[in-house]
Amino acid sequence: MDMSNIYRLIIKIAILFFTFVLSIQNVLAWGSTGHKIINRKAPMQLPSLMSKFKSDSLFYEAHASDADYRKVSGDTTFAAEYYRHYLDIDEYPNFYNLPRNLDSLIKLYGWDTVKSRGTNPWFTKYFLDSLTAQLARGDSIKVKQTASDLGHYVADGHQPLHCTFNYDGQFTGNNGIHSRYETTLLDYFQSQIVISPASIQYVSSPIDYIFEYIYYSQSFVDSIMLADNYAKTVSGWGGSGTAPASYYNALWERTQSFTKDMFQRATVALASLWYTAYVNAGLLSITIESVLPEEYSLSQNYPNPFNPATIIKYQLPEDSRVNLSIYDLLGREAATLVNEVKKMGSFEVEWNASNLSSGVYICRFSAIGLASDSKQYFTDVKKMLLVR
Ligand SMILES: [Zn+2]
Repeated sequence: MDMSNIYRLIIKIAILFFTFVLSIQNVLAWGSTGHKIINRKAPMQLPSLMSKFKSDSLFYEAHASDADYRKVSGDTTFAAEYYRHYLDIDEYPNFYNLPRNLDSLIKLYGWDTVKSRGTNPWFTKYFLDSLTAQLARGDSIKVKQTASDLGHYVADGHQPLHCTFNYDGQFTGNNGIHSRYETTLLDYFQSQIVISPASIQYVSSPIDYIFEYIYYSQSFVDSIMLADNYAKTVSGWGGSGTAPASYYNALWERTQSFTKDMFQRATVALASLWYTAYVNAGLLSITIESVLPEEYSLSQNYPNPFNPATIIKYQLPEDSRVNLSIYDLLGREAATLVNEVKKMGSFEVEWNASNLSSGVYICRFSAIGLASDSKQYFTDVKKMLLVR
């Protein structure tokens, strides 16, 4: 074999390789461009206290689509990668009242149906829990990878066509819309997607939070199909072969406002879940301001059971005199965590019980509203279990 044959062989291999890579690109959710934007931009929404986490944005970007590459054709197990990227939520009857608990849903519909309609919410939650555990034990290498993967699943949940049975427009004559919308359209207009700083929140019920954004995403499915019809009319493109630029200009005209918004929301949701993992891992004991609370509340401590530290959260709808104390079962005071006037807002305090023995402890919370016309007085108790 002379040198020119070797070069030809190398070129052939290179062409085969790139053809292979390009064919994979077609099945990526949000195209790889969309996933990169969300994973790179979400860290900007994090509080500065998470600076170490924020500084890995280039890693999250580089690994934004790893989850797509893990799909193994022929794997039909319940946990298979393939099913984690979507939830065909509107295929379920009465889907606004869908049980969000996986066991309940499986009891109603069976494993196979639940699996094939997609497992995105439960695997998003699973990755959130993994991230929390990895943060808690300081496994910084796994943290970076899991944070990236979590970003992928959250982004999928913000792509309307990953939240519908009509995911490729196959039931409405919009065949092929999936990759036109999430890949080609974004490659044309990605520079117009600007993410603004926004406030994030601690997510106390992740599954509910995930379902909320999936319902929201699903509500734009019809708009995408109508935009596709409109763009075909404007461009005169009939739907076969490659769509012209005029088609994409018209498609963007009709989809840009909610598409930009979904990207913004995806960065906020991802940062909120990262932040939640960070708090639940015990790495932050200061709550950032989010939505101002409308009523008094005391949340169950987390973790519970605990050893030796746990976090207690509470909310004040107005400036209040607050007392938060811990008692043992005999009524003896074990600790006073708060006894002062606080501004309205959400708070959390950490209780470290390292000098106490195992057992049930009672957290007692009281608050007296201090607004001039206030008559509010609120008390609540929670049981907490220390296991040494
Ligand atoms: Zn995906």
